[in-house]
Parts: sequence; structure tokens; C-alpha cells
Amino acid sequence: PASVGFQNVVFRYPGNDTVVHHDVSFDIPRGGMTAFVGPSGAGKSTVFALIERFYEVERGRVTLDGKDVTEWPLGDLRASIGYVEQDAPVLAGTLRENLSIGVPDADAAAIWDVVRQARLEEVVARLPQGLDTEVGHRGNKLSGGERQRVAVARALLRKPRLLLLDEVTSQLDARNENALREVIGEVSGRTTVVVVAHRLSTVSMADRIVVMDAGRVRATGTHEQLLSRD
Ligand code: ADP
Ligand code: ADP
Repeated sequence: PASVGFQNVVFRYPGNDTVVHHDVSFDIPRGGMTAFVGPSGAGKSTVFALIERFYEVERGRVTLDGKDVTEWPLGDLRASIGYVEQDAPVLAGTLRENLSIGVPDADAAAIWDVVRQARLEEVVARLPQGLDTEVGHRGNKLSGGERQRVAVARALLRKPRLLLLDEVTSQLDARNENALREVIGEVSGRTTVVVVAHRLSTVSMADRIVVMDAGRVRATGTHEQLLSRD
């Protein structure tokens, strides 16, 4: 699993005067799950974009495994990271095609070998219901919740060392939310999991919480530490 660090990051989107990150610092150690919480517009999703080096910071440092993201070959950096956004796009192709995206050398036949090698069959089987037998289903016929599960499965198949999830349980019913949370808990042993969380159920399973507001980190700590603060 990978570690992530932000040291005194100042950031504005290109061509935009508004400072989005004022002086953001935090450390995410290897493994486990860290949840970012805070109001809309606080700068949580931007943390993800900066880790993936979609933009350059104005000041400060963003590191992956202690090395500045600008010093990583971009391909290696992005190959280490699985990113799933809230409204995960799913292609019109079949589930098999959707899951193959980004899996090295995957073709229609190889995808299930990858699944087996990664010992992810049981994980994948629990994501979109009946995925293992219905790989021919078209992606564009899926519900929002099914799309979220396909997107997480697709990210997991690439075996990222860092998994960035932008509230991916928002469209799931309670049963599927629990299944997905279990899967995320299981992978947190070998993958550092970072989530933007809105629901308390997601926050409460995190090992660490970073509270952001208006482009600043307001607090960090465990659930218990934060609850006992006031
Ligand atoms: P959060 O994830 O906490 O809701 P974001 O990181 O998405 O917050 O956004 C932080 C701020 O940056 C907001 O004011 C938002 O409008 C702005 N912002 C987000 N994405 C962009 C972008 N691509 N270009 C310009 N401003 C953006
Ligand atoms: P919003 O969700 O605020 O309407 P966007 O969907 O454009 O705006 O993206 C939200 C935030 O997520 C932005 O800060 C954007 O830079 C970031 N973002 C977009 N794509 C990625 C990605 N692949 N990885 C990490 N962050 C991303």
C-alpha cells in the first residue's frame, strides 16, 4: 500500500482567482482507510485531483510514498492509483468490457484470469449482482448503484496501491452499501483506501478522518478523538 502526504499546499484552479486550498497539510500512512469529510466546496475532491497530478500546486508539496508527485513518471503514478468518482461513467459495452478497461493486456478471455489471480472472484461476485454469469449485460442498462459497483470492481482489478473513492455508496441501497463497505474493508490491508464521505456509515468505518472546510484542514484524528473534542 502507498502513503500520501500534503505539506502546506496552496492551490488555485488554472485561470481562477479563488484559492481552493489555503494551507493544506496531512499525512496518510500506508494501508487502512482515511475519510475526508466536510461541506460541499471544501476542497475534498481537489485533494484527489492533486494526488493524481491533474494540476500543479502553487506552493507546498504533494507526495506519494514520500516522493513528490512531480518526480514520479506520470504513468507509474497513475498506475498506482485507482480512482472512482461519484457518478462513475460506465460504457455502453458489456460488463466484461467495462471491467477490462485499464487491466494490462486484458482481452475478453483474459479478464477472468486476472480476476482469479487477484483472488477477487468473491469480491467481484458481490459487486454487481450476478456479474459472474451475466458478463454480457450492457453497461448502459445498469442502475446508478450498479454502475458504482462496476466502477469499484474495475478499479480493484488493476490492483492499485492507493484507492481514491469519491463517495461511491451514495446510490446504493443498504444491503449493497454494506457489501461494498465490506469489500473496501477487505482491500484496505493491501491498498491504502481514501474516501470522500458524506454518510456517517462510511465515516465510522474509517481508521482516520480529515475534516476540511473552506480549503483548510480543520481537524484530523480517529472517530473517537474527533467526537471527544467538543
Ligand atoms: P468538495 O469535493 O469538498 O466538494 P471540490 O474540491 O470539488 O470540493 O471543490 C473546491 C472548490 O474548487 C469549489 O469552490 C469548486 O467550485 C472549485 N472547483 C472544483 N473543480 C474545479 C475546476 N475544475 N475548475 C475550477 N474550480 C473548481
Ligand atoms: P463537481 O463534482 O464539483 O461538479 P467535477 O465533476 O468536474 O466537479 O470534479 C470534481 C473534482 O474532482 C474536481 O476538483 C476535479 O478536478 C476532480 N477530478 C475530476 N476527475 C478526477 C480524477 N480522475 N481523479 C481525481 N480527481 C478528479
